Amino acid sequence: MSIVVLNLPSVKRKKEGRPKQCPYCGGETFQRWGQVNKRVKDTRDRQVKVHRYRCCFCKHTFRQYPEGVSPAQQSERLMKLCVIMWSLGVSHRSVSLILAVFGVHLSHMSGWRDVQEAGQRIGRRLKWKPSRIVGVDGVWVNGKGIMVAVDLGDGELLALAEIDEKELVAVETWLKALKQQHKIGAIVTDDLATYKEIAQELEVGHQICQFHVRRWTGKR
Ligand SMILES: [Zn+2]
Repeated sequence: MSIVVLNLPSVKRKKEGRPKQCPYCGGETFQRWGQVNKRVKDTRDRQVKVHRYRCCFCKHTFRQYPEGVSPAQQSERLMKLCVIMWSLGVSHRSVSLILAVFGVHLSHMSGWRDVQEAGQRIGRRLKWKPSRIVGVDGVWVNGKGIMVAVDLGDGELLALAEIDEKELVAVETWLKALKQQHKIGAIVTDDLATYKEIAQELEVGHQICQFHVRRWTGKR
């Protein structure tokens, strides 16, 4: 039997240590300004301690949340779990039902928002950088075609787009913009014939992923 281990964010019940900087002015001296118990929606912890501080410089008060907790009602662990379940094809309503079995009451709209926010976070993390060789592949996520580009130098995600791999023109337009943006010299893809055509059109090198080549050879 195969077992998949999910690496989910950890959640702490309280934050150790004091804040280093005031989020408003960058000041470094604070007064403790009380503590509140915050209820969280999570798979394990239902309540965490949140400390409040007052900046001695600008007089603003702010909260310091423990690891894995934010001003949101849900813990980061629960948000990630919702996103993973949805990526595996579970509908938002079913995610809500599954969590209810474990005593977590989350509306299907909250699950939907988690997925949207996770997508936006990935988008914000993507930065420009020159990438000589890029791995390109298409995947299906919940009935939608998604194109993924990964820098094969450092393995970092370069771009994501909601495009069906079989739509030649859309894939070509997307790769053309990526080529100009990241100075791509070559792409590594699976054996789908359209990639060969696109690589020639865009004048970039093209190699078929060794994994796919081995699979073909194995079949023969
Ligand atoms: Zn301040």
